[in-house]
Amino acid sequence: MAHDVTIIGSGPAGVSAAWPLVRAGLKVLMLDQGRKADVPRSLQGTFRTILQNREDQQWREFLGDDFAGVGDERHTTPKMKVPQFRYVQRGFEDVYSLSANGLRPTGSLAAGGLSNMWGAGAFCYNDDDLSAFPVNVGDLMPSYRAVAERIGISGVLEDDIAPFLGDVPLQDPLPLCENAQRLLERYNQRRHVVNKLEFVMGRTRNAVITKDQPDRQACALDNMCLWGCSRGAIYSAAQELESLSQLPNFTFQRGAFVQRIVPQADHSYHIECKDVDDDASTGFIVKSERICLAAGTIGSTILAMDALNILDAPMPILSHPAMAFAFVLPGRIGRPEADKAFALGQLAYRLGEPLTPEHHAFGILFSAEGLLASELATYMPLSRPAAAKTIKALLPAMILANCYVPGIYSNSSIKISRKSVDRRAVLQGGVSHLFEARFNDIKKTLARAMWKMGAYMIPGGAKLAELGSDGHYAGSIPMTKEDRPLTSTPEGEIRGLPNIHTVDGAALTQLSGKHPTFTIMANADRISHRMARRLREI
Ligand SMILES: Cc1cc2nc3c(=O)[nH]c(=O)nc-3n(C[C@H](O)[C@H](O)[C@H](O)COP(=O)(O)OP(=O)(O)OC[C@H]3O[C@@H](n4cnc5c(N)ncnc54)[C@H](O)[C@@H]3O)c2cc1C
Repeated sequence: MAHDVTIIGSGPAGVSAAWPLVRAGLKVLMLDQGRKADVPRSLQGTFRTILQNREDQQWREFLGDDFAGVGDERHTTPKMKVPQFRYVQRGFEDVYSLSANGLRPTGSLAAGGLSNMWGAGAFCYNDDDLSAFPVNVGDLMPSYRAVAERIGISGVLEDDIAPFLGDVPLQDPLPLCENAQRLLERYNQRRHVVNKLEFVMGRTRNAVITKDQPDRQACALDNMCLWGCSRGAIYSAAQELESLSQLPNFTFQRGAFVQRIVPQADHSYHIECKDVDDDASTGFIVKSERICLAAGTIGSTILAMDALNILDAPMPILSHPAMAFAFVLPGRIGRPEADKAFALGQLAYRLGEPLTPEHHAFGILFSAEGLLASELATYMPLSRPAAAKTIKALLPAMILANCYVPGIYSNSSIKISRKSVDRRAVLQGGVSHLFEARFNDIKKTLARAMWKMGAYMIPGGAKLAELGSDGHYAGSIPMTKEDRPLTSTPEGEIRGLPNIHTVDGAALTQLSGKHPTFTIMANADRISHRMARRLREI
C-alpha cells in the first residue's frame, strides 16, 4: 500500500495525529520500535490487601529482583522505580547514542511511549499559557474537546481551579482520599485567607475513566495505580493502537526504529529504519512524501537536526523545573489507612497571578497511601530504617505535592555531532539563575497556604526534582511565525524540511506550569486535521 502520511512514533502525539488522517480516509503508516511490556502485573486486589497478605514473592513485583525499587536517592517520580515500567525507557539512550549532563534524558521505545507509565494529569493551556504561541485557545479548543472525548478525562467543571484547567467534556470525578477531602473542605471554609496568598485550589483532572468503555473498565479504586492499572482505566496511547489497527487504511509497523530521514531530490524522503531488538536486522527504507514526527521531543529533535545537518551547535530544548513537597495533617496520624482509593492526583493548585505566566506555578496534590514506605523515606531527615518506622505512623496523615514552573526557568540544550556515519547526541541540563529564588518563594508560600488549611510541611520535606525525570521535554522545534533555525510553522512544518510536521512536544512554543501532554495531543490533532483537509483538496 502506498501511504499518504508516515507517522514516526506511537505515543500520545502519534496516535492523536493518526485519528484525523485515518478518519479522513487517508492511508497512514505508523513506524515504531514498538516494544511491549516484558513483566506482566500478576498482583490482584487492593494495595492494602496485597501488602497484608504478604505472599512470598510479591516483593519482586513491588521492588524488582535487584531491589531497584528501594534504591536511587534521586528525586524523581516514584513511577521511575516500578519494575514493570522499566521496559518503557530501556535502551532509549543507547539507540540514539545519547548522553546527558545535569538532567535525565527521559524517552521511550515502547508502543504507546511514555504514556504507559505517565501520571495522567490532563490540563488545557489557556490564552496566558499560549501567549508565546502562534495559535490561541480558540484554535486548540475543538481539538482539546475531541481528545478529551476520545481518551476520557475525569474531573469537575465547577470549582475555583476549573476555569484555569479548561472547559472540556469530563466524566464524573474520582472520589477524593480522606486527606484531600479534608483539605478541600478547609480550603472552601478559608478561601478568603488563602486566596490572598495567590493560592487557588480545586479538584485535579485525570485521564482516568470513571465509566466503562467497550475496551476499558472504570477505575476500581484499588490504590494500585502506581503499578499500572489492570483494568485499563488509566489512559495509555497503547490502548488506541488496537482500535486504530482494526481500520483498513492504518498500518502499525513494529520493529521500525527510525535512524535517519534523508531528503531526496524528488522532494520525498527516505526513512531509514532498523529493528534495534534484532541483531540480524540489516535495516530497510520507507519512502514517504509526508511525515509526522512524533518520536517524543528528544527523538524528534535528533532526527530533525540530523536531516537539517545542524551539527555541533547546542540548540535550546525546554525541560520543566519541578519541586516536590511533603505535608502532614496532624489529626490523621496513626489512623487506619483506606483500603479503596485512587492513588494518582487528587487536587490541583495554582500559585501566583494567572496573568503573569512567567510567575505562576502549578502543582498536584497526591495521597501517600498508594506508596511504599521506602519511597517516602527520602523526605525524612532521618536514617532510612528510622524514617521507614516513622512513616508507617505518618502515612495515613501525609499529602504530597509536586510543583512546576514555566519553561522560561529552564536553560537546557541539545547538540548532535557526527563522526563518519556515527551520530552522537548530548543533552545539557540547566535552570535559569532566577529559579533558586523562585523555589524558595514557592516553598514559603505553599507552606503558609497549606498551614492555613491545617497541613504542615514536614521538616526536610521540600525537594528539587531531578530535571527531565518527568518526561516534560518540549520546545526544541517551536512553532513560530518568524523564520529561525530549527523552528516550525504554526502548522508544525519544520522549516527547511518541507512536508515534515513535528506533532509532539518539540512543537510547543513554551511550557507553562501545567503538564504538557494534553496540549501536545490537542496540537497534534489540530495539525493533522489541517493536513487531512489540505490532502483531501489536492
Ligand atoms: C513518570 C512520568 C509521569 C508523567 N506524568 C505526566 C502527567 O501526569 N501529565 C502529563 O501531561 N505528562 C506526563 N508525563 C509526560 C508524558 O508521558 C509525555 O509528555 C508524553 O508521553 C509525550 O508523548 P509523545 O507521543 O510526544 O512521546 P512519547 O510518549 O515519548 O512517545 C514517543 C514514541 O515514539 C517512538 N519512537 C521514539 N524514537 C523513535 C524512532 N527513532 N523511530 C520510531 N519510533 C520512535 C517511541 O517508541 C514511542 O512510541 C509523564 C512522564 C513520565 C515519564
